[in-house]
Amino acid sequence: MRRHVIVLGAGMVGTSTALQLALRGQDVTLVDHQAPGRENSYGNAGLIQSEAVRPYAFPTDFPTLWAVASRRGNAVRYRPGALPRLAPRLYRYWRNSLQRNYGPVAEAYAALIRHATAEHALLLGNTGADDLVRRVGWRQIFRDRRQWAAFATEARAVADLHGLAMSVTDGDELAQAEPALRRRLAGSIHWQDPWSVRDPGALVERYAQRLRDLGGRVLLGDALTLQRQGAGWRIAAGGGIVEADAAVVSLGPWSDGFVRHLGYGLPLFVKRGYHRQFACATLPATALLDMRNGVMLAPMQDCLRVTTGAEFALLGDKPSPVQLGRSETYARELLAFEAPTADPVWMGARPCTVDMLPVIGPAPRHAGLWFNFGHGHQGHTLGPVSGRVIAEMICGEPPLVATEPYRASRFDR
Ligand SMILES: Cc1cc2nc3c(=O)[nH]c(=O)nc-3n(C[C@H](O)[C@H](O)[C@H](O)COP(=O)(O)OP(=O)(O)OC[C@H]3O[C@@H](n4cnc5c(N)ncnc54)[C@H](O)[C@@H]3O)c2cc1C
Repeated sequence: MRRHVIVLGAGMVGTSTALQLALRGQDVTLVDHQAPGRENSYGNAGLIQSEAVRPYAFPTDFPTLWAVASRRGNAVRYRPGALPRLAPRLYRYWRNSLQRNYGPVAEAYAALIRHATAEHALLLGNTGADDLVRRVGWRQIFRDRRQWAAFATEARAVADLHGLAMSVTDGDELAQAEPALRRRLAGSIHWQDPWSVRDPGALVERYAQRLRDLGGRVLLGDALTLQRQGAGWRIAAGGGIVEADAAVVSLGPWSDGFVRHLGYGLPLFVKRGYHRQFACATLPATALLDMRNGVMLAPMQDCLRVTTGAEFALLGDKPSPVQLGRSETYARELLAFEAPTADPVWMGARPCTVDMLPVIGPAPRHAGLWFNFGHGHQGHTLGPVSGRVIAEMICGEPPLVATEPYRASRFDR
């Protein structure tokens, strides 16, 4: 049966969802109030992280908690003013991160992650976007031997369990592999399977173009104009009214406000992040994550993108210059790069859930409405996978993975 489906939000998640639906013969309208791939799906570090089988847990060990609480560390920061409102959700995030609860979460996360590169390959198809993708993996780099040794032991165990290609390299080998590094470090872990994208927003635009080529529409419109229409849905978009049998909410961090206006109080929050881009004569061979400071040095098309770790804040809070400022200082200790490019400082928000799993599945109380959001640290990686899963659910096909762990109704229990 050919349905007409409206997909709300043209980030990596919504655009991939729309494309997966179109590849299954559905009539699709993708609606956003701006062009595809302009928000978080533009500003991220561009990694397609097939190694990220363990989602980012809330720190549960005392030294890390202390570094965060005392605001000395740089990888994770918070805005004190946001804590009263965030506390109930952070408490649930912390509980789900405890060892006894984390196992099933990681299992469900890995079930999605393992399909990441294959599903991107499928969507890349004949888009000609291969020029944007580099299949060189990425590296965690360590300044401290003890931290390197501890992470290497854990990484080997994870790699064995999930069949991931990786190598642990000492400081000399790292210096050889990454001549752009300006100081000798303790060592690195090179995850070899992941891909990196030179311009994440451009990749989303290529997927959107493939959708148009398949007959789908990409229209400007405000998601908040979505209304019920008989058994289906209607929205004001592209200067007219679009009617459809079903609608998918893929509004990234804005999904929280949107589903709230429909009466759903899902336990969502954001971890903000920043980037700044710099002219750089000698880019690193792969993206490098400074593990002490949570700073990613990501080679882009023609510049270096320095991205930060997580900042717990409310979506609408003012930007803070601290984390990005420190990140630039740490980055300059490692690489020689020049002045910032003309692009402004960028701030984004990772759309997170308290159990670290995205929400993929039917809206519990609205027939014909579907949810696909909450991809946290890995939405660029997971968009095509969760897009496939939701498309299969809408089309009544057997889904790629068991869908129970991702359904919104899990939060009712
Ligand atoms: C610093 C940083 C680095 C990251 N690095 C990586 C990485 O290397 N790899 C990785 O996998 N992930 C990474 N992420 C996470 C990733 O960026 C996100 O998980 C992902 O972009 C979320 O995609 P999305 O499509 O859900 O949301 P978005 O890309 O934010 O898309 C949501 C869309 O909804 C639209 N929208 C909002 N409100 C409305 C409305 N009312 N009407 C119409 N449209 C609306 C917006 O315009 C936007 O286009 C990183 C995130 C950050 C912050």
